[in-house]
Amino acid sequence: MYDTLIIGSGPAGMTAALYAARSNLKVGIIEQGAPGGQMNNTSEIENYPGYEHISGPELSMKMYEPLEKFNVEHIYGIVQSIENEGLIKRVVTEDETFEAKTVILATGAKYRLLDVPGEEEYTSRGVSYCAVCDGAFFRNQDLLVVGGGDSAVEEAIYLTQFAKSVTIIHRRDELRAQKILQDRAFANEKIKFIWDSVVKEIKGGDVKVSGVTVENVKTGEISGHEFGGIFIYVGMNPVSNMVTGLGITDEAGWILTNNKMETSQSGIYAIGDVRQKDLRQIATAVGEGAIAGQGVYHYITEHF
Ligand code: FAD
Ligand code: NAP
Repeated sequence: MYDTLIIGSGPAGMTAALYAARSNLKVGIIEQGAPGGQMNNTSEIENYPGYEHISGPELSMKMYEPLEKFNVEHIYGIVQSIENEGLIKRVVTEDETFEAKTVILATGAKYRLLDVPGEEEYTSRGVSYCAVCDGAFFRNQDLLVVGGGDSAVEEAIYLTQFAKSVTIIHRRDELRAQKILQDRAFANEKIKFIWDSVVKEIKGGDVKVSGVTVENVKTGEISGHEFGGIFIYVGMNPVSNMVTGLGITDEAGWILTNNKMETSQSGIYAIGDVRQKDLRQIATAVGEGAIAGQGVYHYITEHF
């Protein structure tokens, strides 16, 4: 029986584990991949206090290492469902069922698909969702980045170190990204823009992608463009399929909590990107992890 089982080992989950373990609780953290979550997919982090810049994988390791000291148990598994049986919660993975007094959901968010013809066919054959993972395969090529948020603009800038050119296509005439990223992109000679336009189709041959068909949403004009690679950053969806049925999400699947990170199910907490909230960042994930890690200690003291 764990005092708390944390699902997901991104910055939110790792911080919750640290705080709960420092309160002498028996802590398990279930993760399906490497510790770090989305941080592993970003090269440069420049807005996490204490570091002028640090790579995502390096920050992931810095958050992971202290957990070793506190005997946090790392469990590999894909959580499929969570059952709340009063004071006991059951966490079901494909191989095992674990019991805990409390559960902290820190399952984050996952990239959204563009959902156009050719996307699935050419994924890993020129279509990518991770510039850090795949950027180096596209040296001296003309690349397309789809989206106008922080991810699209930041990763477009990152890709310019490999690419001949990077074109950002955005469905409006104004970017959503932070101003500092916008300024850098506008100042970068390798970055071009296609405004007010959407990708209608991804095209290619037998082996790999060759370009896109684009529609201007204001004029209706259709045009064809050639690209050697296409990076898609059109937002994120919550990873909350394991709590369907608990009634703790909004219609889109983001988990609802109060400001103590408690869901409406007693003893079940949610933190980080999977929560319904305005600002999805490492700093906010870490803050929420601290609140829940401390919160489960008080919950257990009161209920057991
Ligand atoms: P995540 O990091 O998403 O981690 C969730 C973890 O849960 C994952 O490891 C996942 O494998 C695991 N998991 C999910 N479901 C299950 C399951 N069923 N069973 C077991 N494990 C599961 N933020 C910044 O502050 N600065 C930046 O510079 C920055 N750059 C970014 C660049 C990119 C390209 C992206 C995509 C995001 C960036 N962000 C940045 C956002 C930041 O990475 C996220 O806000 C943060 O990682 C959220 O942390 P989290 O712990 O809530 O979730
Ligand atoms: P996001 O902020 O939701 O932006 C998604 C972008 O894609 C928006 O510009 C949106 O257009 C566009 N879009 C959505 N659906 C589309 C579609 N079907 N076709 C074409 N375009 C579409 O997502 P994100 O950029 O992945 O960021 C996710 C979270 O991570 C955010 O909270 C972000 O702040 C954070 N993050 C932070 C950093 C950083 O701090 N450096 C870096 C990366 C990510 P509209 O603008 O018209 O809606």
